[in-house]
Order: sequence, then C-alpha cells, then structure tokens
Amino acid sequence: RAKANGRARAELFDTTMHAQAMARLRLESELRRALERDEFRLVYQPIIALASGDVAGFEALVRWQHPTRGLVSPMEFIPVAEECGLILPLGDWVLRTACRQLRAWQATFPAAARMTMSVNIAPRQFAQPDLLERVRRVLVETDLEASCLKLEITETAAMGNAARTQEVLQALHALGVRLSIDDFGTGYSSLSYLRRFPLQTLKIDRSFIDGMDREQESREIVRGIIVLATTLGMDVVAEGAETQEQVAHLRELSCGFGQGYFFQRPADEATITGLLAAMAPEVAPEAAGAAS
Ligand code: C2E
Ligand code: MG
Ligand code: MG
Ligand code: MG
Repeated sequence: RAKANGRARAELFDTTMHAQAMARLRLESELRRALERDEFRLVYQPIIALASGDVAGFEALVRWQHPTRGLVSPMEFIPVAEECGLILPLGDWVLRTACRQLRAWQATFPAAARMTMSVNIAPRQFAQPDLLERVRRVLVETDLEASCLKLEITETAAMGNAARTQEVLQALHALGVRLSIDDFGTGYSSLSYLRRFPLQTLKIDRSFIDGMDREQESREIVRGIIVLATTLGMDVVAEGAETQEQVAHLRELSCGFGQGYFFQRPADEATITGLLAAMAPEVAPEAAGAAS
C-alpha cells in the first residue's frame, strides 16, 4: 500500500517535471521566434528629480506581446532568455531601440535634451567580451550622446569577477556612458565595490521602499543607503515609490530621484511622447523639427 502510494507519487512527480520541461522548451523556441517576428516592445518609466518634480530620464523595460498569451512579463522570460543565451540578441535590440527612442525625443522636444535613458544589462550581456564595442556602435548608429545613456547592472553581475568588472566599467565610463547599480541591497556584495567601481547612480530596491510606510527598520535602511551613496558622491534613485507618504519621506531624507507608480507606470512610446509634448506646450513639434 505504502509502496503503491510511493510509486504513484513518483509518477506524479515525473509527470510534473516532464510538463515543466516541455513548457520550458516551448517557451525557449517561442522566444527565439519572437525576435524574428518582432513581438518585443519597450515601455518607458520616468525617473523623477524629487526636489523639482522634473523628469530626469526614463528606464526602458521590455515587454513581450505574445500572439495568444497577450503581454508577457519580463520576470517570466528574461531568466529563460538569460539561460538560453537569447538575452544577447534581445539585449542588443533593447539597447538600440531605447537609444534610438531617446534620440528621437531629443530631436523633437528641447526638454528631453538632457534626459537620460536607462537600460538593463543582464549578467550574461555584461560578460560579453565585446560589450564595450557593441555599446559604442549603438551610440554611433543612433547618434545618442554617451552621457545620455545609463547602463543598469545588478550586484550579482558586477561581483562575479571583480578585476574584470573594474576593467569593463572603467572602459564604459571612459566612453562617457553612465553606470547604475540596480536593485541595491538585494544581492550579495561587498560594499567596497561602490567606492572602487565608477558608478554614478545607486538604485534602492523596491522592497525597501515598499516597507517604508509600515516599518521603522525599512526607513532606517533607506536612510542609511542614501547617506552612504551621498557620501560617495553617487545619485540615488528610489525604485517602486507608490504612495504620497513614501515620496514625502524620501524627500525628507534628501533622496535625489524617484521612480514608481506614484509618478507614472511604465508606458508606451505614444504616452511618453504625449507627456513630453505637454511639458513644453510652447514648442510645437513641427517648429522644433524645422529648427534642427
Ligand atoms: P528592474 O530593472 O528593477 O525594473 C523595475 C521594475 O519595477 C519594473 O518591472 C517596473 O515596472 C517595476 N516598478 C516600477 N515602479 C513600480 C512600483 O511603484 N510598484 C511596483 N510594484 N513595481 C514597480 P518590470 O518591467 O516587470 O521588469 C522586471 C525586471 O525585469 C526588471 O527589474 C529587470 O530586472 C528585468 N527587465 C526588464 N526589462 C529588461 C531588459 O530590457 N533587459 C534586461 N536584462 N532585464 C530587463
Ligand atoms: Mg532596472
Ligand atoms: Mg531595479
Ligand atoms: Mg527591481
């Protein structure tokens, strides 16, 4: 009886594993096709200077417009793309599309001239031997000024091989690109890298901002991170600010920048174009186009 039960469980387990493996394989092959079929989209989320309320720039976030499943979250497909290597062509596409988009906005809206575009760089992309060359090529192709591009890397991607990381970041820095550490506080890392690597921006992970309204501890962690980053001369972005209270608190703590649903959800190109147009109503897009 017990044995039979055990066998049944083992079979059930096998079936589940098999189903998962199949689903995974299907996702992989669909992902490959998705690139060819042009099913990926970018959305853009504004990053706000908290003191002035101005839009300082945007973070580009990828979406997959699946023919039958609708919009698929990057949380679902980025890890798979990372594992099967598809993140390399996908990451190239994201980088090129995001740079081209900011350049187009800059050409139309004077208010966008000094805005930045932040692009997530996956660990496997960061490990590419020719990353620097790829970034340089995209900047030339899209005619975007290097200082307008911000690359976001996670602690995990940065900590793998500290000597190589130092070299790669230094080279990107020399190119004029800005560098951010993403999801700060969630990875394993030694704090000394903040001083060693040429990072301009630290993004406090959403989990800490989320706890601010409820827990004294989260507020203290956020305060500590802001003091640390400011002492090191870095800009700080609070990720995932959703409430008025959080934003008021972040302002009190002299946090420089915020990004979150409180300000704006990630939005498509047309929505952001509308937002930029509303920012400078005195400059008609046609006039700006004719002047350049
Ligand atoms: P991330 O880089 O930390 O991006 C911020 C995530 O927080 C985004 O989720 C954004 O939509 C979400 N977010 C922003 N404000 C709020 C808020 O107020 N509340 C809540 N609950 N969420 C907020 P998204 O777009 O689903 O992306 C998730 C993750 O997927 C990103 O986290 C990043 O790690 C990865 N990802 C997205 N696009 C790309 C990409 O083009 N390349 C790579 N390598 N990774 C990407
Ligand atoms: Mg990011
Ligand atoms: Mg983040
Ligand atoms: Mg995050």
